[in-house]
Amino acid sequence: MQCNQCSKPAIWLVTGNEIPLCLDCYSKWQHLQQAEIENHERMMNYNLDQIAATVGMRPTGPRFPERPKPVIFSGVKMNHINVTNSVVGTINTGSIGVVDQSISALVQVGDNSLGEALKELSQAVLGSKDLSINQKNEVLESLSVIATEAITPKENRKNSVATVLIERASKVTGLANDIADVCQKWWPLLLAAFALAGG
Ligand SMILES: [Zn+2]
Repeated sequence: MQCNQCSKPAIWLVTGNEIPLCLDCYSKWQHLQQAEIENHERMMNYNLDQIAATVGMRPTGPRFPERPKPVIFSGVKMNHINVTNSVVGTINTGSIGVVDQSISALVQVGDNSLGEALKELSQAVLGSKDLSINQKNEVLESLSVIATEAITPKENRKNSVATVLIERASKVTGLANDIADVCQKWWPLLLAAFALAGG
């Protein structure tokens, strides 16, 4: 079943009308629900104070406690790539999460050079001051697809897709002088991995 709000698959039915929502949209819906409940709580506290003030007594009895400060999700837990707080919220942590998990998978099968290439390139892109947020997200998204292909068995890899993405992403990072060294070292290695496998 498809989400009522976007194209993702639905996993929850909400309201009496059983509207299907995906994880992201359900999260937004929950957020709004909570905000509404919080407003009701504040209103009830206010009414209690109002009543106490009207009868000229100190407010007594139970009140809704202050709500704790919202927890800020810092995205997926990373094992290899270091994501600083300054970039969380502007960059696509989903893409980085995919790359990070792929590195774990590559390390497990002993393919350290591919894992290192993915790690070094992701880290460089995240830290670059010459790339815009959009450029970073574009390269990270490409890296997430390339990483997914890298952990696919060689005979099943979409080598031409990976090659096109690597060439495109390396053009984007070519605009960033501050990460030129890393890019010159690791993009060719990634490219070779897919070119050879296709041979
Ligand atoms: Zn949705």
